[in-house]
Amino acid sequence: MSKNILENELFESFANASDNIYIYVCDMKTDLTRWSKNTVDYFDLEGEYITGNGPKWMEHIHPDDRAAYIADIENVFSGASSRHSCQYRAKNKYGDYVWLECKGSVISDENGNPLVFAGLMTRLDNQNKYDPLTLLLTSYEMQKYDFSTGRGTILLLGINSFRKINNTNGFLYGNKVLVALANCLTDLAGKEDRVYRLQGDEFIVLSPNGSKENLSRLFEKANDLCTNIRGLKSFSVSAGLVSYPENGTDFNTLMSNLEHSLEYAKDQKQGRISEFSEKISQRHLRTGMLREALTQSIHNNFEGFELYFQPILDAQTKKIVECESLLRWKTPEIQDATPYEFIKILENTGEIREVGFWVMEEALRHAAMWQKKYRDISVSFNVSYIQLLDGEFIDRLIAKAKELEVDPKLVMVELTESCNADDTKMLSRQFDKLQKLGFKIAMDDFGTEYASFGLLHDVSMDVLKIDQKFVRGLIRDGNMTDMAIIENVVNMCRQLSIQTVAEGIETKEIQDIIRSIGVSFLQGYLYSKPVPAAEFERMVEEERG
Ligand code: C2E
Ligand code: CA
Ligand code: CA
Repeated sequence: MSKNILENELFESFANASDNIYIYVCDMKTDLTRWSKNTVDYFDLEGEYITGNGPKWMEHIHPDDRAAYIADIENVFSGASSRHSCQYRAKNKYGDYVWLECKGSVISDENGNPLVFAGLMTRLDNQNKYDPLTLLLTSYEMQKYDFSTGRGTILLLGINSFRKINNTNGFLYGNKVLVALANCLTDLAGKEDRVYRLQGDEFIVLSPNGSKENLSRLFEKANDLCTNIRGLKSFSVSAGLVSYPENGTDFNTLMSNLEHSLEYAKDQKQGRISEFSEKISQRHLRTGMLREALTQSIHNNFEGFELYFQPILDAQTKKIVECESLLRWKTPEIQDATPYEFIKILENTGEIREVGFWVMEEALRHAAMWQKKYRDISVSFNVSYIQLLDGEFIDRLIAKAKELEVDPKLVMVELTESCNADDTKMLSRQFDKLQKLGFKIAMDDFGTEYASFGLLHDVSMDVLKIDQKFVRGLIRDGNMTDMAIIENVVNMCRQLSIQTVAEGIETKEIQDIIRSIGVSFLQGYLYSKPVPAAEFERMVEEERG
């Protein structure tokens, strides 16, 4: 009879809800308590069912927290309060005290006699000493470290593209990567070093009296090991590095400088390590300033944004057949932000979505205008992968083209930063829809870390844009590598009926080589830099006489 209260399906489902939540139900008539299995395991209890649980659980509670706990429980049992709710520390199976938030209530029968006391305890991981997944120390512990005396160096590591790792392989796989890196860092760390896990995919190696060189070496070794962990696909880490007292003498300053250094390292090139410097600090300030100004511009109806157009020529006739729309942004105060700089910020804040709609509409407006004037000039514009994460972009593009009566054959979407494309099925679906209507799709920056063969396999493309870095390398004497790469890419594209564009043609010499290889279209400063719409029109009209 008494067990029935405890044998409840709801209990089973709650008991499996989360790893850091512990459930209990007590039959108050028999004083028999049932704990969820994870509680038994984590706190090393004598079993799932415990008679006379009260005093036994009390032994787990930190002596300093017992008085508050007893007071709270007594209030509930005396009826003075309907809910038990307090925070305290309890000893786990490792012998460590962890912070818990405990909530519970008493259920009485119709005569007011208490029947059941039930509730749950949530482990407050951000206040705990050890991270339950990796068993490393937490940032809460690091905050207690005294940085104001002595000297040392600190490394902050972040896993590259961790979001993608999680999304493509699942959460549990992501956890394995975190544990593997934790073990790897623990193995590499010196005797005096401390390894911490922060939120998410970030780790700290704190090296009291340690040198920058040692931590840099540790970083390189960690990256080596990450390529070759049994059962896991290769991954890599980036890192920021600070020294104390030079770069700060308290947790908050050092952490903030570390975060800026890591952000800088990731922006420069994944897999890098960056030591904190004045330059990094200035850059962080500038990013913040640009971020605010960009938001302001967007609110003011995209004031300061403008599209420039760069001609693209047919390689055979050397006539302008197309142009690429390239975004520009200026305010009275900020005149020098490059597209690479402000687009990265827009991508990070997510505002690229809004700006992307604006770019798309502006590009279509010009396409409509030039279609009427010149009949056959195509207009391309750039789209980042994150703009395509929902279907709205594609639908709006189709609707806008219809409204403006633009022939889709004269519109091309260039996919940039396609490396972030973890959902290639979604991309493929969206592009198919566009291609069926006649729109053209290009893969931008082919051959860089952003775009390569993998995507070509999954998604159908009309045009492939060979990255400037290969094109510009062509003149280097005796360097046959870039030549071989371009030749092979062009041959492959020919077999797949994909057209090619060579970007970054700056000299006649390169132009001639590119044309001899058989690239379909030419783009570069040799013909023109990106220019305002009116100037582009002048060029087309001059050419057409
Ligand atoms: P991208 O799509 O690869 O654009 C080509 C970049 O190469 C342009 O830089 C262009 O000015 C530059 N370029 C063209 N020919 C030459 C040349 O002969 N020599 C050299 N040195 N450079 C050449 P820009 O306009 O600074 O744009 C930079 C990047 O910003 C673009 O690279 C693209 O990834 C991104 N971007 C520009 N507009 C947009 C946009 O509207 N949306 C999105 N998502 N990204 C954009
Ligand atoms: Ca482009
Ligand atoms: Ca490009």
